[in-house]
Amino acid sequence: MISVEEALEKVLSCVEVLEPEQKPILDCLGQVLAEDVYSTIDIPPLDNSAMDGYALRAEDTRGASGSSPKYLIVVGEVAAGSMPTKEVRLGTAIRIMTGAPLPEGADAVVQFEDTDEVNRKSSRRDLSQIGILCQAEKGLNVRGRGEDIARGDLVLKEGKVLRPQEIGVLASLGRSNVLVIRRPTVAILATGDELIDVNQLLAPGKIYDSNTYTIAAEVTRYGGIPKILGIGRDSVQSLIEKIDGGLDADMLITSGGVSKGDYDIVKDVLAERGEIDFWTVCMKPGKPLAFGIMTKMEREKKRKMPHLGLPGNPVSSMITFEQFARPAILKMMGKKTLAKPAIRAIIEDDVVNTDGRRIFVRVVVTRHGGQYHASLTGPQGSGILTSMTKANGLAIIPESSKGVKAGDMIEVQMLEWGEEQGEIERLPVISIVGKSQSGKTVLMEQLITEFKRRGYKVAALKHSRGGIEIDHPGKDSWKFGQAGSDAVYISSPDKLAFIKNLDHDLSIDEIMTIIDPEFDLVLAEGFRESKTPKIEVHRKAFGDDLLCSREELSAVVTDAPLDIDIAQLSWGDTGAVADFIEKSFLRAVKGKGKCSP
Ligand code: AMP
Ligand code: MG
Repeated sequence: MISVEEALEKVLSCVEVLEPEQKPILDCLGQVLAEDVYSTIDIPPLDNSAMDGYALRAEDTRGASGSSPKYLIVVGEVAAGSMPTKEVRLGTAIRIMTGAPLPEGADAVVQFEDTDEVNRKSSRRDLSQIGILCQAEKGLNVRGRGEDIARGDLVLKEGKVLRPQEIGVLASLGRSNVLVIRRPTVAILATGDELIDVNQLLAPGKIYDSNTYTIAAEVTRYGGIPKILGIGRDSVQSLIEKIDGGLDADMLITSGGVSKGDYDIVKDVLAERGEIDFWTVCMKPGKPLAFGIMTKMEREKKRKMPHLGLPGNPVSSMITFEQFARPAILKMMGKKTLAKPAIRAIIEDDVVNTDGRRIFVRVVVTRHGGQYHASLTGPQGSGILTSMTKANGLAIIPESSKGVKAGDMIEVQMLEWGEEQGEIERLPVISIVGKSQSGKTVLMEQLITEFKRRGYKVAALKHSRGGIEIDHPGKDSWKFGQAGSDAVYISSPDKLAFIKNLDHDLSIDEIMTIIDPEFDLVLAEGFRESKTPKIEVHRKAFGDDLLCSREELSAVVTDAPLDIDIAQLSWGDTGAVADFIEKSFLRAVKGKGKCSP
């Protein structure tokens, strides 16, 4: 059996970011920009008015008020879209509309409401003069040329995911086309003699093929283009025919035919078109999963197409799609954030884990009392597709646990949230790693002090191989543990500690499920094996080599510069280390930034 992470890693290692294409901007929603977009113009192109009012010279309004208006001669009018033909000289004003270019000589705009225009109109007085009822500062209601974007600015960077606002910015730059990573085409094939298409009449012993539709909709949702191959029968010839119709796609997704009973056919067929491997993934639902690489000829070149064989049960196929196909599609599209956004929630029902697999439980997440709560949607059978229609989240029961009890904190993948949101909700954990005696603890202390000074709520996490100090033999708390309690909580007027007996050394992910969501960040010492961002403390005196590989590290804090391609921070400059952590991992968290001390 392989873990969900291992399976995902294997899948991702076989898919590549696709090539860029030039397209009309309106077709690019959700795609990744493949060029740096610079502006060739100023936006706005000229100084212009932010209000309907009168363009004038601020000095002419000195001392103006409701009881003592300053009167100016109106020399013209300018509307949005036209250019002013006159200039504003001392003692004059030009009536101006929002967006209209500011006339020469004017340096402020006073809105209609601060003039006597309405009064004049109602009493049919002459409009060739206007009374100004307030004193204007220079620049009042003036939008400066290039205030939003200046000519030559880098406006959108390569890698940016295009949302409606980016598409709007492209339009404002006058770009009708843009270079983006192209969308993957995903061929979809359902297999099974029992399946019929929705356009046919239901016959005895048959069921409608729902997987094709669920998967196609998922492909579309994540930005791919579905190519429906139809229903393959459980025969070699039928499958070969169907699969050959999808060889021009970027990925093939089949459903069904991977469980013990009938996988031989799928296996034989797929093996004929490439390599195929059957995995037992440590998850529920969705244990059997096939993964293959098809080799095909394209423009006289051999090209590889990944094939993901999902289980047939509708819920299993959807959950395995979410865990494996979705990230593969996102990677092909050039996206960087592949993880489904997850939150921590209080589970409201017990769930038992009988066979040590990771269970994905369909839940309804609600928020009340400042906390997320997750309750089961009802029966969890892997054929019950309505459990997915009721759900907005997948609660994760770790493979290492025997289950959870109502009230426990668990992690929930939010099905409807966009991937980019993931980084906002997840409590950031940064591990400080390093060789023994390199100064990890000192750096931890310095960082804790620095982040507290910056206004963050910090939790520190320490892995202690040698046991936990507060658990002193002879103490009452120790006695309760000895008597067999599964956990002991000790509270005093100003502190709470708890000691829970474990059957294995917890991973950071597991520990995170019991850390309060109130913190802004967790600084962990050690936990080299974890996947959290890591900063290594390096001391020249301990040799030039590092404990972790370059790929594992976000930065090195060192007392002697190293000849490696990785961010290096000087030992002793805690402010710079905190800046680095803030910039790299905390920016999206709460927008805290630096607080003045
Ligand atoms: P299989 O993995 O082929 O053994 O299928 C497992 C279960 O999922 C069986 O009950 C199938 O009838 C059902 N199933 C397989 N493919 C589909 C499909 N495309 N739509 C709905 N149910 C399916
Ligand atoms: Mg089948």
